[in-house]
Amino acid sequence: MRKGRPHVRYDCIVVGGGIAGLQAAIQLGRYRHRVLVIDSNNGRSSLCRSYQNLLGWPNGISGQELRDIGRRQAETLGVKFVSDTVNEGNRDDDCFRLSCRSGSHYECNRLLISTGISDNIPMLPQVRECLGVTVYVCPDCDGYEITNRRTLVLGAGNVGANMALTLTYWSRDLVYINHEQTLVDASLLDQLRQQSIEYIAEPIVEVITDGVNIRGVVLQSGSRVTGERGFIAFGGNVVHSALAKQLGVELLENKHILVDPRTKMTNVPFVWAAGDVVAHSEQVSIAMGEGSQAAIWIHRSLLSE
Ligand SMILES: Cc1cc2nc3c(=O)[nH]c(=O)nc-3n(C[C@H](O)[C@H](O)[C@H](O)COP(=O)(O)OP(=O)(O)OC[C@H]3O[C@@H](n4cnc5c(N)ncnc54)[C@H](O)[C@@H]3O)c2cc1C
Repeated sequence: MRKGRPHVRYDCIVVGGGIAGLQAAIQLGRYRHRVLVIDSNNGRSSLCRSYQNLLGWPNGISGQELRDIGRRQAETLGVKFVSDTVNEGNRDDDCFRLSCRSGSHYECNRLLISTGISDNIPMLPQVRECLGVTVYVCPDCDGYEITNRRTLVLGAGNVGANMALTLTYWSRDLVYINHEQTLVDASLLDQLRQQSIEYIAEPIVEVITDGVNIRGVVLQSGSRVTGERGFIAFGGNVVHSALAKQLGVELLENKHILVDPRTKMTNVPFVWAAGDVVAHSEQVSIAMGEGSQAAIWIHRSLLSE
């Protein structure tokens, strides 16, 4: 295809080929629609080394493996994939035109936005191998994994303090390291004391790891704090809803997309959204469910033409 000139109009383009997008693409492929997935390959599912709470995977599965399986399954159903980032979208009557970072353009009749969110992990290079195995971001997903283990909460301000308090459900051996030394409310500091959570307000200069295992951290003062598990809680995650906003989609104050609970369609006709970019508990199984549900209603809308 010559750059800048679309030559095919897809029934549906899925922007974001993570968990929600792949599940939707599989469902749409099974209806034999013409489907394109445009994905920039750097979502949360590319980061997590092991999902432990999924039906069918009692020993866990990495996000990348799940993505690879999903993509192969969608490709066997005729779904096309391109690696690119959608920068801009606009609508002309019933046709959506998407422009990508590479300069390529694509057209479609229906649009699914499943662009997810990005976590704020300042020490990402140091903990990358441990994510989902011994270092986590979501207590609902992985609180179980720290049961009775010494756990370090690497975070900032009230967000980190609240995470440490939440984790007392699973472990009583907790240290909260306020890496950015941002203000923690007096009432929260009080609760940390009451729950015997050690509180340290000092920058972390190194995370000590051994393969996928976190062993502890080195603080600016040179002292070491040991731990067998870690939780990241800095706040400031980025919701990838810029494309939705451009198209006039209604967003919540926290920038997550609002959808119809039944159909997953947004307030803009023929624009759907699924996965973490929509407000929910940010879990794989939920992203999958939303992807399927959006695809079913996209199909119904295509049929009605
Ligand atoms: C460390 C970690 C551990 C986790 N552990 C668990 C767990 O144990 N259990 C659980 O249920 N959940 C867990 N989660 C959450 C889970 O990963 C997410 O809920 C899930 O990935 C959401 O899927 P999604 O498709 O919405 O987003 P993603 O998987 O993030 O996919 C979004 C995709 O959209 C792409 N994209 C974004 N913008 C654009 C654009 N403009 N153009 C093209 N492509 C774009 C991204 O590159 C990405 O590939 C974890 C998350 C992290 C970070």
